[in-house]
Formats: sequence, structure tokens, C-alpha cells
Amino acid sequence: MRLTYTRSVYALTTFRLVWLKELIEKETVESKLPKRVELGSIFSFTEDNGVVCKICADAKACCDFATGKTWDLWKLDYMKRHVIQKIHSDSIAKLRRIQAGAGISCLLTESEDHRQMRMEVNDRQRSTGEQVKILIDNVLLGLSMNASMLSVMDIHDHMAKYVKLPDSWRSKNYAFEFVECIDTVVREKCMKEIREF
Ligand SMILES: [Zn+2]
Repeated sequence: MRLTYTRSVYALTTFRLVWLKELIEKETVESKLPKRVELGSIFSFTEDNGVVCKICADAKACCDFATGKTWDLWKLDYMKRHVIQKIHSDSIAKLRRIQAGAGISCLLTESEDHRQMRMEVNDRQRSTGEQVKILIDNVLLGLSMNASMLSVMDIHDHMAKYVKLPDSWRSKNYAFEFVECIDTVVREKCMKEIREF
């Protein structure tokens, strides 16, 4: 009884929560390049369970840091030593494999709608000012020729032979969006001129 009491007092006095604020240079599950992280992003401490390495716990590694390590006389070095151990690196690798697997199964099970939306978002992110300028210019050409928006689609397709214009951008909806943008600018300019007149 007496022994247990002494033990818990030691745990309280020798582990310092401030250690969890300590910065170390270490690769993480997300980043293969070492980056500065707080020990607290890897370890947690409770009086009941001692020190848990969250990464080894998630990876269900076979070491006492995975379930909670208790020690009579804690030293900051014990944690720093653990993160360079093979078992910890193996846990990082295991979690990376799990995450990559989840990513792949997401791709395999996503619906057609979802896929198209993702592709469109990708296209938009890749957009360059030059591509958008070409699309707007085509719309302007169509307007000046008094042509229908369907003809603008033909112009887009024609241009796509020479420059890269993603399929989804050549849709009628996009053309109307451009017309609206152009209209807003023209209207603002007209109103400004009228006001100044
Ligand atoms: Zn670990």
C-alpha cells in the first residue's frame, strides 16, 4: 500500500508537463520531411496511464509507450529516445499505409458525380490566367458576331486544338457565367460614365 503511494507521488513529481512543449525535429505521419513539432503532438501524459505515444497507440505497436509507460524517475530524454527507436518509425510507416489505403478505397468507391466534381475542382485549381482569357475572348467574339452561345462552344472546341482548355470549361454554363461577368463590368463602366457625364 505504502509502495503504491510512493510510486504515484514519484510519477507526479518527476514528469513535467512542460516537457510536452519541447520542440523536436522529426518526420510525422503527414510529412516525410522532418519538421519542428512539440513533443505534446506525439505524447500525452496522465497520472493514471503515464506517458502514451499517440502514434504507437494508433498503430497498436507492441511497446509500453503504446499503452502507457509509467516510470519512477522520468527524464525528458526517455521521450526523445523513443521517437528515434525503430518501433516508433514502424508505427509512422504503418499509419501512412493505413491512410494511403483509405485514400485509394475512397477513389475506388466514389460516385460518378463526386468524381466529376473533383475533376472540375482540379481543373479550376490548375487554371491559368491565359486559359481564362482565351475563354472570355471567345465569348466576346461570339457576342460581337451576334452568335449564339452554342457557336461559342464551337469556337472553344476549335481553340482547344491549339491550347489546353479543359472539357468542363467549354460548357454552356461557363460561357453564360462569363457573359454575366462581362456584363457586370460593362454595366459598371457605363454607369460610371453616365454619372460623370
Ligand atoms: Zn511511438
